[in-house]
Amino acid sequence: MRAIYLFGESHFSQKMPIDPNFDQNREVSGEENGVKVWGDVNKPSQLGIHGTHVAVDFDICLADGACLEDCPVDVFEWVDTPGHPESEIKASPMNEAQCIDCMLCVDVCPVDAIDVDPGRAGRI
Ligand code: SF4
Repeated sequence: MRAIYLFGESHFSQKMPIDPNFDQNREVSGEENGVKVWGDVNKPSQLGIHGTHVAVDFDICLADGACLEDCPVDVFEWVDTPGHPESEIKASPMNEAQCIDCMLCVDVCPVDAIDVDPGRAGRI
């Protein structure tokens, strides 16, 4: 995880990374932007995990944008999430069917908000 320290304090929140077993630990609560949403949603503060093969924990995402820049097949697109405490836009994996499993997005996310698992693809 990349972190910025200023006067000895981390400026990233201390949230846990995305749960790689979310599909076993959460239920599907809906669908947005063509992908499933996993876990409880209570807008605007709680948004759940979006996507299945390519999953983004919207409650961790702080809109760094590295995944949008680095994904070679444009899986991610910005969506508005007004009022969410981490960021008011999120990287939605709305084109997850295009994923080639390069894992770049997983590597570059500064807060470990993304998990990619082709084994979950059948659950899309
Ligand atoms: S694993 Fe690679 S292809 Fe798949 S969403 Fe991430 S960056 Fe894009």
